[in-house]
Amino acid sequence: MATKTQVQRRKAVAGTVYLLHFSTPYKHAKHYLGWTEGAIEERLMQHRAGQDARLLQVITEAGLTFRLVRTWEGTRCLERQLKNRHEAPRLCPLCCAQKTTAALAA
Ligand SMILES: [Zn+2]
Repeated sequence: MATKTQVQRRKAVAGTVYLLHFSTPYKHAKHYLGWTEGAIEERLMQHRAGQDARLLQVITEAGLTFRLVRTWEGTRCLERQLKNRHEAPRLCPLCCAQKTTAALAA
């Protein structure tokens, strides 16, 4: 359990906010937005091993895969802000590209 001071310190730490796009939507979820203080590759390895994030554990178990589509430099506050916007599909270059392709084809 992190103490309040540790949590506050963590909030101010610069890290990487990252967006993962799932190969197939899982229920209503198609993205995962996370934050890491360390190397993003390490974090992804942890996720692929089913550690840390329950949602990613569930989709990995369901046989789905995910890929890193976007990163931002920032603190946990930025992660919170982006999460609160609930617009992962619009932040996701893959989904935006698909939308554009679909619009062009129509
Ligand atoms: Zn996407």
